[in-house]
Amino acid sequence: MKRVLITGAAGFLGSHLCDRFIAEGHHVIGMDNLITGDLRNIEHLTGLDRFEFQHHDVSQFIHVKGELDYILHFASPASPIDYLKIPIQTLKVGSLGVHNCLGLARAKKARMLIASTSEVYGDPEVHPQHEEYWGHVNPVGPRGVYDEAKRFQEAMTMAYHTYHGLETRIVRIFNTYGPRMRLNDGRVLPAFIGQALRGEDLTVFGDGSQTRSFCYVDDLIEGIYRLLLSEESRPVNVGNPDEISIGDFAEEIIALTGTEQKVIYKALPTDDPKQRRPDISRAQAVLNWTPKVGRSEGLAITYDYFRGLSDEDLRKTEHKDFTTYSS
Ligand code: UDP
Repeated sequence: MKRVLITGAAGFLGSHLCDRFIAEGHHVIGMDNLITGDLRNIEHLTGLDRFEFQHHDVSQFIHVKGELDYILHFASPASPIDYLKIPIQTLKVGSLGVHNCLGLARAKKARMLIASTSEVYGDPEVHPQHEEYWGHVNPVGPRGVYDEAKRFQEAMTMAYHTYHGLETRIVRIFNTYGPRMRLNDGRVLPAFIGQALRGEDLTVFGDGSQTRSFCYVDDLIEGIYRLLLSEESRPVNVGNPDEISIGDFAEEIIALTGTEQKVIYKALPTDDPKQRRPDISRAQAVLNWTPKVGRSEGLAITYDYFRGLSDEDLRKTEHKDFTTYSS
């Protein structure tokens, strides 16, 4: 049995990771400051002996009792509307937060895995994106707070690896979807499904020609798990290369939900990447990993999840009021 610290444990990906490590028989310490996370995502784990929860902001000094074998740093606002509202915290959790986690990993002689992102490639000029591409990021644009924090996080992690000899893993996560995404987090899939369920028109930003490649959460978690157990310290893309334009994606959601609503067009957000598709040859070669869940299957499961939410959740289109949190 390993002892595992997962930051961002009450979030979408963090909570699925908690489930996976518990299912593998490990002891999990979940940490979250609950700014964008939701305790309901892990409430089914709270009675277990092998699960602990610490309500803590990882940008502040972290104290964990006992030994640790693995630390997975998944705390961060991850949706553009979130990090536009809480830009300073986004920068801090990717910089001060990762520094605290790395220091803890060093003290505990633990292996550290960080959640990086396709956003390190920015609005990419190389397509599909492979790990050797350095990216095309605007540091002072609205997305810069997330992109640059994640780039710093990679640099810091690599420095701990080379300078301190820490065992580190870096996963670059591409757009991922599935149950426990926040309906009001502003990302395209919950936005479209929420609109369909409320009987509103689907808002496509720009002309809908920009592309994304959506990975089902179970596939992503499997890739992360394999990466952690591998010997690979270079960054590894984990995502599903099945690319689709946002316009076509809206049509898929219309067909899936049977909504009678139509697509309406809104302004494209600043610095919105025009194209995104992972080159997963490294993950295939090193982790023997490839995604298994196709979009129609994954979307059907995700739609069922959103349909099961309460009317109150569905109506709650307003985002959390972040103004009460200091930066
Ligand atoms: N998008 C959209 N309508 C929405 C929300 C998002 O057309 O209501 C677009 C957004 O402009 C982007 C894509 O969908 O091109 C994916 O956006 P998301 O916020 O999910 O993630 P990103 O990949 O941009 O970080």
